[in-house]
Amino acid sequence: MKKYILDFTIVKFKVVVKSIIKEDYRINQIIEWIYTKKAATFDEFTNISKELREELKKRFTLRSLKIVKKEQSIIDGTIRYTFQTIDKKYFFAVFLPANGKNSVCISSQIGCPVSCAFCLSGKVKLTRNLTKGEILEQILQIENDIKERISGVLFMGMGEPTINLNNITLVLTSLLSNKEFGIGKRHITLSSVGNVPAIKKLADDNFGIRLALSLHAVNEKQRKKLIPNNFGFSIEDILNAGRYYLKKTKSRLTIEYILVNGINDSPADAHKLARLIRNHELLNPNVWVNLIPFNPIDGVDLQAPKEASIQKFKNILKLNVIIVNIRQAKGADISAACGQLGY
Ligand code: SF4
Repeated sequence: MKKYILDFTIVKFKVVVKSIIKEDYRINQIIEWIYTKKAATFDEFTNISKELREELKKRFTLRSLKIVKKEQSIIDGTIRYTFQTIDKKYFFAVFLPANGKNSVCISSQIGCPVSCAFCLSGKVKLTRNLTKGEILEQILQIENDIKERISGVLFMGMGEPTINLNNITLVLTSLLSNKEFGIGKRHITLSSVGNVPAIKKLADDNFGIRLALSLHAVNEKQRKKLIPNNFGFSIEDILNAGRYYLKKTKSRLTIEYILVNGINDSPADAHKLARLIRNHELLNPNVWVNLIPFNPIDGVDLQAPKEASIQKFKNILKLNVIIVNIRQAKGADISAACGQLGY
């Protein structure tokens, strides 16, 4: 069976191809074609002999995903991609154009075991983790489709990335390496609903990427309702892990807070959130709150917040000297916005 090249680290790939290629410079040329020049087929490796290309074709495959559906928003140009894996599973990634900066929101699992009440991905039973190659290939396929380079990556698609931490660690190494994707650490954001040990591990590994803590609630009862399988860590543990991350990496920490009408969007909730931030020493220019107005989803019995509640919530945080941003829904007309990635 052919091996999927993108699943290898560069170190492993060098070992594996040594049996057919002796010269190091030749191996480096191949690596350049894969990661820097982003060739989608072996025939594009024009400085490699035809015989060697045929040999590579016999042993390896460069792509394993197929784009089976592509929908583009007429409102903001967002593109929602449906990918099919080799074992005929389906998942999503979203291209987000914004002010000349191309970002992608990518998936880390097929399905998601966290089952957030406000998210369609959480309604899809977890089938498996995506491999290192499958995670990276989402970016390569989208670049190839839009004919432009991607400069920002959000791990906010289907799945909780920290459950797939081994592969995510390999992916981050590849994204940050100048010999591979060469994307700046400040342009990569990973979200987690609060897997405390994994957040600490990411802090200790010190990739320096941005962390988005999906808090979404100010008390445990509220949180359990919105995030049923939330790893069992308390809000206190999660905010402490966030502070640890901030101290170790000096990167930006965003606290993600979905506003759901009548559940967590009252002025009292906003004051409580401000207190939690202050009491956990997170009143810091590198800590932002992202307010995400809930995007209604068919079959989900939750309502979008009223505009007045959103503004009030925001103003209370601002009065408490907290940097706050209201996240605009992208691609809402093609179900590509936050929480809408499902079948
Ligand atoms: S919001 Fe994230 S963690 Fe929650 S169900 Fe959706 S994909 Fe999973």
